[in-house]
Amino acid sequence: MGRRSKNPNNSNKKVRDGKIMDSSAVMDISIWENHIQEIKEGNFYKFTNCKVKHFFGKKLSTSPETVIEPADKQDVTQATQSTASLRPHLCCPDIQNVIIETNAICNTKGCRAKITGNTESKKMVRCTSCNRAMLINNCYMEINTTFQLETTDKQYTVMANQTTLSTYLGEDVYQYKDNVDDLTEKLLLLDNVDFKLSTNARMITEIVDHQQELQK
Ligand SMILES: [Zn+2]
Repeated sequence: MGRRSKNPNNSNKKVRDGKIMDSSAVMDISIWENHIQEIKEGNFYKFTNCKVKHFFGKKLSTSPETVIEPADKQDVTQATQSTASLRPHLCCPDIQNVIIETNAICNTKGCRAKITGNTESKKMVRCTSCNRAMLINNCYMEINTTFQLETTDKQYTVMANQTTLSTYLGEDVYQYKDNVDDLTEKLLLLDNVDFKLSTNARMITEIVDHQQELQK
């Protein structure tokens, strides 16, 4: 068996993201590879030898050393309620401004760092993490959009990744990578749209058209 890749973009490795909760708290977790079949949603397990990662907050991740065993049922009512209230749902906020950043991602095996601010020419970039130079054409690209949103009582600066935007717009936003003006305008003109945020209110997890009916 190969070693687990550090890079979630590596399509050879299967990963499934979810939530893990006990009677007191909820946390994000990434389940890797063969562990995916070992668990069923709604059942209780004891995880040993997980890793803690930092991705817009703390996140658990299984590793090849992780052991998953069945565990006794717990009462998770309290944790369920607190997560719902912790995930901000912004109903039709004002979109005050938008910045779209396209970043090259280093193609060095095992590095995959985001390359920022050192485009030496239009054709080449140098990775600030591993110092290797590469052609932009040979890099992965990532498009991240930061919104400043305002509701009646609060302002939020939140980021959406390209998957979240593409899902809402019904088109691959990657096509705008060389000229983001049209995409910027499209986003500024969004109207009657709700934003669902991550628990730490830094990431947009979903953009949805505003629904008149109350959600269950
Ligand atoms: Zn690098």
